[in-house]
Amino acid sequence: MKSLSPTPDGLDQAAALLRAGELVAVPTETVYGLAADATRPEAVAAIFRAKNRPADHPLIAHLPGLEQLHEWAARVPDCAWPVIEQFWPGPLTLVLPASDKVPAIVNAGQDTVALRWSSHPLLQALLDRLRRPVAAPSANPFCRISPTCAEHVRAHLAGRIAAVVDGGPCEVGIESTILDLSGARPAILRPGAITAAMLAPYLDLAEAGAPDAPRVPGNLASHYAPRQPCYRLEAAEAQELAGDAGWRRAAVLAIEPPAGRCGWFKRMPSTPEGYARALYAALHEADASGCRVVWIVLPPDEEAWRAVRDRLRRAARPLSG
Ligand code: AMP
Ligand code: MG
Repeated sequence: MKSLSPTPDGLDQAAALLRAGELVAVPTETVYGLAADATRPEAVAAIFRAKNRPADHPLIAHLPGLEQLHEWAARVPDCAWPVIEQFWPGPLTLVLPASDKVPAIVNAGQDTVALRWSSHPLLQALLDRLRRPVAAPSANPFCRISPTCAEHVRAHLAGRIAAVVDGGPCEVGIESTILDLSGARPAILRPGAITAAMLAPYLDLAEAGAPDAPRVPGNLASHYAPRQPCYRLEAAEAQELAGDAGWRRAAVLAIEPPAGRCGWFKRMPSTPEGYARALYAALHEADASGCRVVWIVLPPDEEAWRAVRDRLRRAARPLSG
């Protein structure tokens, strides 16, 4: 896998590879995406092979700008515009009725399509060159930890894709918020950096929907998971267990340093934004720590932590029960 520099020359090379139907991992403000020319079904098919992703899991198409929104969405409901104005480009994906132009392999043949306009300057510069959308799910093997730097992409996909554009670490660190505007009432399908509280002034949001709807792969119960067995526990449980035999063997991720000695410890940031940014790199590190088990002490069960707790719930099993 080639490492391409974040320069005009590197982006020219990335665009040329995408035009040739190759796969290129690209930085976005959320996590690294595995991009293919969204207008070429055979190029998009290669994403599913590289990731081992089941074909019935739809992808997000990243637009080069608003101009192509109407080509890819059959209809943009009135309620979408204030949200688009406020949050695009940014870490927000909109599910809209799909136009006939959307290749079935991109949206798994559904009548909706997930569209995003990323704020990352390198992806924007790449899409300016390409002048068409790329399909880009996270650049990791299916159900594994999402990559937040080029090194993570290399570790997981070397030999499987043509190149990665090295844009440094991702700013947000967890996948985009997915907002479904195709139904009777707007609904968040996947929580992210754009929270329900941020969207509420612009939309009449339905309560958090059924979390296991299969059309949202990010919603599988197990996802974003390290290789090692990974467990989650509430802070109160952790206090009771600190120092016991399991704790001493474990790689522990927590906001507060644990009372008892553990195998390996990663202190996590105390704000939701900081935690999200650090999360996947910390899981990658825990995986590589040599400990045979990972324990994650959950941040508080509060609205501001919803997206982080959602990812932790999918990365880790409950320790008790
Ligand atoms: P990933 O980048 O691997 O997290 O995958 C892209 C995300 O977009 C997944 O969670 C998809 O389910 C979601 N997505 C793509 N298309 C649709 C759609 N038509 N309806 C609902 N969710 C979608
Ligand atoms: Mg993913």
